[in-house]
Amino acid sequence: MVATIAQRIVDDTLMYSESVATIDWSDVLDADIVFIGIFTFNAQRGYQLAQHIKANSDALVVLGGMHASLNYPEAAQHCDYVLLGEGDESVIDFIQAVSDGAAIDFPGVVYKQKGELVHTGERTAPADIDVSPDYNLLYRYDKMARLNTVWAQVHASRGCPHNCDYCAIIVHLGRGIRTRSPQAVITDIRQTIAFHNRRFLGLIPRMNKIVWLTDDNFFADRKWAISVLQALIDSDINAPFSTQARYEIGFDDEILGLLKQAGFVELVFGIEFLEDDSFEQFNKKCSYDEVVQAIENTQKHGLEVRGLFILGADNHTKGVGQKIADFVIRHRIKGVLIQSMYFTPSTPAYDANKDRLIHSDWKKYDGNVVHYPSMISPYDLQQELITALGTIYSLRRLVRALIFEKWLYKLIFTGEFFWQNSMKANYKRELPYLKSVSEGYSCQSEGG
Ligand code: SF4
Repeated sequence: MVATIAQRIVDDTLMYSESVATIDWSDVLDADIVFIGIFTFNAQRGYQLAQHIKANSDALVVLGGMHASLNYPEAAQHCDYVLLGEGDESVIDFIQAVSDGAAIDFPGVVYKQKGELVHTGERTAPADIDVSPDYNLLYRYDKMARLNTVWAQVHASRGCPHNCDYCAIIVHLGRGIRTRSPQAVITDIRQTIAFHNRRFLGLIPRMNKIVWLTDDNFFADRKWAISVLQALIDSDINAPFSTQARYEIGFDDEILGLLKQAGFVELVFGIEFLEDDSFEQFNKKCSYDEVVQAIENTQKHGLEVRGLFILGADNHTKGVGQKIADFVIRHRIKGVLIQSMYFTPSTPAYDANKDRLIHSDWKKYDGNVVHYPSMISPYDLQQELITALGTIYSLRRLVRALIFEKWLYKLIFTGEFFWQNSMKANYKRELPYLKSVSEGYSCQSEGG
């Protein structure tokens, strides 16, 4: 989206993602301005790229994105400027100021001057978020988009009114909800489907036609969510959809009915924990019983459920990985994301736990255990993570999915089987290090 907005005033705009293709360095090093967006897990790579560009070109290097915004004193050490928050408007202000030779003094910027950090003040979040991204601006994405491993994505709203302690979304996007107009969402969905559902090599049709509405809480503004669902029902769009939700939607029969009519095949619930104590520890307002009831009612409406889980709450002990795996299998949850507690700088969970972090090697903040839990050693917790993934994405369950699941979930489970097993291998590689830091660590359950 930011590239699409930038291109309105700079014709020669191009975006690279190392997840998609190798960077064309002759193009990047010839640029006037390079914007680099980073999350926590890829912050170090972003810093490396920023320093490489600064050392080898005359380009202004600007860092932005969630990690740079929430951890700007660190980010500012690696670039010329940090753009804070969402870039929809500030990227235009920045380009305009540079081309006019004007001072970069509008709100939402941090930079170093004579060794001191200059912060130009807080910026109001953009109100107009109706831009549809031009996927052609992402270098070589058109080739990748035809592969089934890529989920077509559209975002429809930003922000969440809740207040979970580990959540970086509310620190970055705020607790007020900003929505796109239903018509803009429909237009974006049409464009996204047209772009992604082309034939691979001109021959093979794309099989995974799911469109993922990436909002962190699509139902935060219930009335608006209904208007988007109604617009989808009234349109001629015929695609399977998925989106994220809090458990409460599992009790909302009207919304569940509309989701089904609009073509949704599943909801992704941020279940996170299976213990009421853990919900309380991280200020997540829900209970185990409510989560179970919400899952069952959602499934009764013909929608599948996927689940997001977090390991490493203070009451987690040995066996927590198997407990999650058993829950997933018992409740016929179609797919999972399980990660150890992640800590994004500036979140309450980070502030409360920063003295318990094992390191700040950000590239390992991708699901690995990175803190000293209370009742289990870091090494044992990582083993629990591996057990959970190994049980849910076992070869036996893959064969079962290939025989018994509907076509779409045969495909999705197969894709996830390979991805989750690669993540499991990644987590296994971290075990020797976690063993070394766990030596001598005496958690509470061991009487420490
Ligand atoms: S409900 Fe989800 S998006 Fe909202 S604050 Fe909690 S974790 Fe974040």
